[in-house]
This record gives sequence, C-alpha cells and structure tokens, in this order.
Amino acid sequence: MAASMASQAVVRALRETTSKHRLFDKFKCARLSSRRWLNLQEYQSKKLMQESGVTVQRFYVADTASQALEAAKRLEAKEIVLKAQILAGGRGKGLFDSGLKGGVHLTKDPSVVGELANKMLGFSLTTKQTPKEGVKVKTVMVAEAMDISRETYFAILMDRACNGPVMVGSPQGGVDIEEVAATTPELIFKEPIDIWEGVRDDQALRMAGNLGFKGPLESQAADQIKRLYDLFLKVDATQVEVNPLGETPEGQVVCFDAKINFDDNAEFRQKAVFAMDDMSESDPTETEAAKWDLKYIGLDGNIACFVNGAGLAMATCDIIDLHGGKPANFLDLGGGVKENQVYQAFKLLTADPKVEAILVNIFGGIVNCAIIANGITKACRELELKVPLVVRLEGTNVQEAKRILSESGLPITSASDLDDAAKKAVASIRK
Ligand code: ADP
Ligand code: MG
Repeated sequence: MAASMASQAVVRALRETTSKHRLFDKFKCARLSSRRWLNLQEYQSKKLMQESGVTVQRFYVADTASQALEAAKRLEAKEIVLKAQILAGGRGKGLFDSGLKGGVHLTKDPSVVGELANKMLGFSLTTKQTPKEGVKVKTVMVAEAMDISRETYFAILMDRACNGPVMVGSPQGGVDIEEVAATTPELIFKEPIDIWEGVRDDQALRMAGNLGFKGPLESQAADQIKRLYDLFLKVDATQVEVNPLGETPEGQVVCFDAKINFDDNAEFRQKAVFAMDDMSESDPTETEAAKWDLKYIGLDGNIACFVNGAGLAMATCDIIDLHGGKPANFLDLGGGVKENQVYQAFKLLTADPKVEAILVNIFGGIVNCAIIANGITKACRELELKVPLVVRLEGTNVQEAKRILSESGLPITSASDLDDAAKKAVASIRK
C-alpha cells in the first residue's frame, strides 16, 4: 500500500511535467514521460501561425497596464479582448487572486482595458489546468475581438496509436472541450495523416465538414487546416491545438486560441523557436538541473534521492516510503556521468531547505561508480555538507568507489543494498 503511494506520487510528478500534454489523456492517446517539451505562450504561437498564413485576429502584447491601455486604443477595434498569457488552458473560466473572474475579458470600451490589466498583471490565475496556487501573469494579449457565431475544436498531434500525426476535431469546441470528450465522444473526429503524403484535400474537406463548416466556409476551413499542418511540420511541433477555431458572422474562419508544443529533439534546427522559451513558468530547480543534463522532480518529503534511471528512482522512492520516510525529490543522473555533474547534482539537492538527508542509490552499468564516488567526496568537501548522507553503490568499478569513499574520512554512511540504504536514511533523520 505505502509502496504504491510513493510511485503514485512519482507518476503524478512525472505527469505534471507533461501537464501541457493533457490532450493526450483527453483523447485517450496516453503518454507518460519525464521530458520537458517547449511550450510557448499564445501570442508567440500566434506569431508563428501568422507567418504560415493562418488567420488570427490583430493583437498587441503588453507587460504593464498602461501599455495595455495604449494597445487597446491603437487597435481601433469595435470590441477588444484582453487575454492573460500563461502556459495553461481554461483561462476563460479561471480565477485571479485579485478577485477578478476570467483570464479572458471582452469589452467595447478601450478605456477600461488598463483597469482590467491591472487586476491581471502580477496576480496569479488559477484554471483547471494550473496548479492550485495558479500561475503568475506577467504578460497580457490585447486583441481585436470578433463576433464568434460558432466555436469548433481542432488539433494536430503526434499519436503513438497512429504511428504519426493525427488530426482531432469537434464541432463542439470552446471552453468545455474536456466535457465534450468525456460525455459525447462521438462528437470527436480523428483523421490520421500519412506523414509522406501530408494532409490530402479530401481529408481536409472531410474534417472541415465534420467540424460543421458549410458552403464557402468549408473550403476556407480546409485551407486553414492545411496551413496548420504545414506549420506543424515546419516548426517540428508535437501538438498544434486551436480551441476555438471559430467562424464569424462575416464568414471568416479564425483561430482564436493557439497552443503549440515542440519536439525537443528538433532544437538543433529550430533555434529561433527555442530562443522564444523564457522558462519563467518552469520550476527553477528543474531548469537548473536540465542545464547539467540532469532530471529533477520535486516531491514533498525530506529525503533527497540521487539515482540513475527512472525505474531506480521509483523503486528508491517506494522503499523510502515503505520504511516510513518521504522522498523530497529525485534527481536522475542518467548514463555517461561526469564528476562535475555529480557535484552540480549535490549542489541542487542541498540547496533545498526541505532536505534533511540524502540517499544515493546508483547502479553502475554504463555509469562508473568511481566517478560518482569522486564527485560525491568533492561535493561533500566543497559544499560542506550538513545533512546525513547514505550511499549505496553497486556495479561497475564498485570496489574502487568504496575505497575512495572510505579513505575520504568524510562522514558518509555506506549501505549494502537498497533496503539497508533506505532504512539508514530514514533512521538518520529520526535521530
Ligand atoms: P482558454 O482556452 O484558455 O479559456 P481562449 O483563448 O480559448 O482561452 O478564450 C476563451 C473564450 O473566449 C473562447 O472560447 C472565446 O469564446 C472567447 N474569445 C477568445 N478570443 C476571442 C476573440 N478574439 N474574440 C471574441 N471572443 C474571443
Ligand atoms: Mg481555448
């Protein structure tokens, strides 16, 4: 029981790192991974869309209330929409800690935009897709509002089940798409795309028809769909989501919202896109860890876990839990470790005030245990480690590693196996 609770915590943590990929869950294309995918703000995604000839409304971006007011006047629009920029959906139905309801506001009077922006900027917005405490809003988008006569949902995403990209659409788009997927799944249409062939005309038209676009709007929507697919390919996206893809009473098909996620493996050829990542909404420890090629996941206990491999991370968390302790985090070293990475890892772990003990659990296959041991002793000395350290090393070059640790004269508790290590780590805190 207890053991499975820890892995649930880990799974939850892993899942949170991919929360921007809820879509995969939403449409039963489940995926679980500890990767961090680049995720841009709506206004950045819309700039990319504009460059691909996708129709979006005119907009400006503002960081202060006075800039927002200025932008609203400059738009000279019949109606203005003010949208908080955070990396999560559900903003329309969200709530600010300033008391303001809704992260998306429509107004005909540009002079109130400043006041509204004042209740958004610097405040946290909580939506269905954010953590409970919400996400602080640093930027707002000031856009020309348009009448929307109908809202549809459209996305293109990579789907394992289809071994490639798939279009997903629903004629019932807008703020309640999760509800639609759950209660009326027959209103969700899927269309797998042949990666070699691209989106065929008949497929684009069929999707446009399924989305409920009629007459001249059908071919306009099909054209938008093809342009969105071109964008998907051009920027190496893993997901392009438009909710709502709407139609206006004047007969225009417009992308009113935009969410694009990118494949990190393509970073080398998408320099301009990746340069837009401001990382301001990422966990600073995770970001720092990623710089050193380390994976860090924060949890809420007090024993830091320093491991190699996700499987070992879960097992370590489970065993700590089994012996009555609680993991504070885990830091996954991966393979091909350098001494400096071990040092950086310790620096990150010890900077966390919650951490009362550190448990190292390394199974050296590709990893050379002696490198880890040297990294540990260097870190202990230079960082003047104040918390108990329990080390369990096994595998390649372990005898040499044990010698390095025991000859170091440092107060390191060595453990014979995982069980012993977990018991000792838990006991070290109880003392
Ligand atoms: P979120 O998905 O985060 O709630 P959206 O950008 O989809 O944010 O906005 C929520 C709702 O606000 C939309 O479904 C739409 O009804 C309305 N809306 C958004 N942009 C505009 C716009 N430019 N003109 C008119 N209404 C809009
Ligand atoms: Mg939306």
